[in-house]
Amino acid sequence: MNALDHRKLGAKLDLFHQQEDAPGTAFWHSKGTTICLLLENYVRSEMQRAGFLEVRTPQLMSRTLWERSGHWSKFGDHMFVFEDGNRQYALKPMNCPGHVQLYKQHIRSYRDLPLRFNEFGVCHRYEPSGALHGLKRVRAFTQDDAHVFCALEHVNGEVSRFCRLLQRVYRRLGFDDFKVGLSTRPDNREGADEIWDAAEAALANAARAAGLSYRTQPGDGAFYGPKLEFILTDCQGREWQCGTIQLDMVLPERLDLSVANSDGERVRPVMIHHAVLGSFERFVAMLLEHHRGRLPFWLAPDQIVITPVSDQQDEYAREVSDQLASMGLRCRVDTADETLSRRIVFARELMIPVFIVVGKREANNRSVSIRELDGKQMTLSIEEAISHLKKLET
Ligand SMILES: [Zn+2]
Repeated sequence: MNALDHRKLGAKLDLFHQQEDAPGTAFWHSKGTTICLLLENYVRSEMQRAGFLEVRTPQLMSRTLWERSGHWSKFGDHMFVFEDGNRQYALKPMNCPGHVQLYKQHIRSYRDLPLRFNEFGVCHRYEPSGALHGLKRVRAFTQDDAHVFCALEHVNGEVSRFCRLLQRVYRRLGFDDFKVGLSTRPDNREGADEIWDAAEAALANAARAAGLSYRTQPGDGAFYGPKLEFILTDCQGREWQCGTIQLDMVLPERLDLSVANSDGERVRPVMIHHAVLGSFERFVAMLLEHHRGRLPFWLAPDQIVITPVSDQQDEYAREVSDQLASMGLRCRVDTADETLSRRIVFARELMIPVFIVVGKREANNRSVSIRELDGKQMTLSIEEAISHLKKLET
């Protein structure tokens, strides 16, 4: 296995593992969990700013709901099904039908739209064991999933908003550009051709209005609607499909959604599905390979290791660590019984971005000696070090 393979990096950096007892699923270690939580909280703050309401919906729902949504007949081969007495249930492969139930809890007026829900939902999809591949192809994954219930005239604005959000998020994660594909109606689909004509035209129009140039991918749409797919290229030139936005006029029809228009008539809203990262598992795999394990400072599980030159500086090292931690920086003190140069080597192997040495001189001056993974070195007071490190986070 290539040293830059995410599975290899995941083991070396102590992020996650997989074992035969849970095929296609990750056991996230503490450091890997930290990365997932940092990503999740970052996306959460962006979604809140964009007016989304965060929700949670059931993992297991009855066959009758999946039949009504169309998943049972069109997506059933990918669903894990369970019996409970004479009822059947399926683990959710998507969050959409759950969000529709939330929409239907109230009578909706056009003034309520666009209504936006988001969920960090764990989904399960069956994949044959031969197709499973590390975190890239899994059976259980967390999606940064979101649904917007709106009128057709909102679609352009929502697509533009989504593109700006994607650009900002991808840039922060180290990607300056993306390619876009417009996936159109698949053979295996729900909904009449007129509905698909309208949905494809509206999504293509919204893509042009947002200034996107896209390639058309005939037949690659979801069973309920066409989608725009956002493709990132990693440092090795490989393409990864990550974000997606889909326009759906089928589920609102099948699940009988309505909204009162300004004349008080009940009309159908449309539904937009979107995910910025897609699956966290896949996105972490891509980040690891793209950055060769050296994640951006803000995303590194251990950002800083502080090492005292001798045990006489242990107390000062802990004091520095406490001060950095109180500023929200993730650091630990390394008092291992090793030479300083060995400890530097270990920290480098673990790709820890900042290594701080405190010796007698630093303890006397109340300063720290900083060595960054890219080779920069400097000696700063504790206060200067905090402001320098906080700047690295932005
Ligand atoms: Zn959806």
